[in-house]
Amino acid sequence: TAAALEETITPSVQISYTQHLINGQFVDAASGKTFPAYDPRTGEVIARVAEGDAEDVNRAVAAARKAFDEGPWPKMSAYERSLIMLRFADLVDKHRGELAALESWNSGKPYEQSAKSELPSFARLFRYYAGWADKIHGLTVPADGKHHVQTLHEPIGVAGQIIPWNFPLIMFAWKVGPALACGNTIVLKSAEQTPLTALYAAKLFQEAGLPPGVLNVVSGDGPSAGAALASHMDVDKIAFTGSTETGKIILELAAKSNLKQVTLELGGKSPFIVCEDAEVDKAVELAHFALFFNQGQCCCAGSRTYVHERVYDEFVEKAKARALTRVVGDPFRKGVEQGPQISSEQFEKVLRYIKSGVESSATLECGGQRFGSRGYFIQPTVFSNVQDDMLIAQDEIFGPVQSILKFKNIDEVIRRANTSRYGLAAGIFTKNLDTANTLSRALRVGSVWINCFDVFDAAIPFGGYKMSGIGREKGIYSLSNYLQVKAVVTPLKSPAW
Ligand code: ADP
Repeated sequence: TAAALEETITPSVQISYTQHLINGQFVDAASGKTFPAYDPRTGEVIARVAEGDAEDVNRAVAAARKAFDEGPWPKMSAYERSLIMLRFADLVDKHRGELAALESWNSGKPYEQSAKSELPSFARLFRYYAGWADKIHGLTVPADGKHHVQTLHEPIGVAGQIIPWNFPLIMFAWKVGPALACGNTIVLKSAEQTPLTALYAAKLFQEAGLPPGVLNVVSGDGPSAGAALASHMDVDKIAFTGSTETGKIILELAAKSNLKQVTLELGGKSPFIVCEDAEVDKAVELAHFALFFNQGQCCCAGSRTYVHERVYDEFVEKAKARALTRVVGDPFRKGVEQGPQISSEQFEKVLRYIKSGVESSATLECGGQRFGSRGYFIQPTVFSNVQDDMLIAQDEIFGPVQSILKFKNIDEVIRRANTSRYGLAAGIFTKNLDTANTLSRALRVGSVWINCFDVFDAAIPFGGYKMSGIGREKGIYSLSNYLQVKAVVTPLKSPAW
């Protein structure tokens, strides 16, 4: 109940790191400025953090450049790099409780989710990439003529990485893991809403033996620190996760400066398709998870729930019942499924979309209001009778708002699912193999989850079609984002040998 929100549970962690980490040292912003980090349960300030701008980015890039050009990192043996990443993963396990508490305190996500799911995944991702470090190598190429030809797979250089606030540590791992495994050095800019855990993790990396300058972390705003990184002439590659709108700016800044290589992981409006043979109870539960997980703040959220007309009425009734039982409250309280939205901006934005849904005459089945009287909590909200041309069916809401749409046959749902400008992911719920195969091939998206959702193994690639992005993260595919291929050609004396 809302009353349970009045008493906030105090997280068991100290906020120890608030300065930039540049060249192995914690330092203040060049300007001396700081910005607030908030507790979204209350809107209270929990720390003041160094606010980076172009000058801090310059200093961090200079450190990363030196560590790449002169420093030990790309020259170190791949096995040594791998061992440092493994030591880091062990330190993450050791400090799991503190990292999870800090992650939940600053982002509002349930502590149990942070501690039991995200922190283990975080360590696992680094162990996965540690495994790659000494398995990256080129090819010998059977070219015409009297030539011996080989390829060298080399690191790109200094990687700029800009991450969002919805999964601060997991996004850190998706970016930092492959870049380090491939021998690059890094300047990472965390999201201004969630600067704390990246600094803590970077500190653990120093403890694990990462040489100074290899991983630098700058906190600050997008248009100042982020834009300085994306347009820096000495940054060789930029990787970004965030909104499609900002992704376009990043690509433009990269093009206008030095044509640095770009990977983008952007927004989505993923269909979750419940077919006519679906066991409704199970479909409801999975569709609920697909949308409401992480307060609905997932780029791949199943935010267009397409339900076959044969099971539609039953589905709507049960989806509403499930949303009404969702446990909203203090993310540090046991059993809480949903915490607050990240910020007042996001809170207001989600409420505006709910208003738009009501005005466009979708049926509001439940929710629709703020939850409690302080912080950024929103009631789990379900709309039925949603039409493709409504704003709530087209825009990324990034909140706990489920939109249910009715369909009649497979060809129709393929066409409708594919009309989105996004193409990040899709869920399919069916027992029919032919239906599953037809849908998974026809949908223009980067991930298809059949009878499951949000399966994020380190080895499974993730990324978008269309305006959901450029490139793939995780898995073997992510390595190419951080490698250059050099062809080396030598004349052969003897054509036979
Ligand atoms: P959201 O709107 O959900 O905060 P953004 O795409 O704006 O998503 O933010 C994701 C990341 O991009 C954050 O680290 C943010 O600081 C950064 N960012 C925002 N605007 C810019 C920009 N103009 N240039 C570079 N980075 C930016």
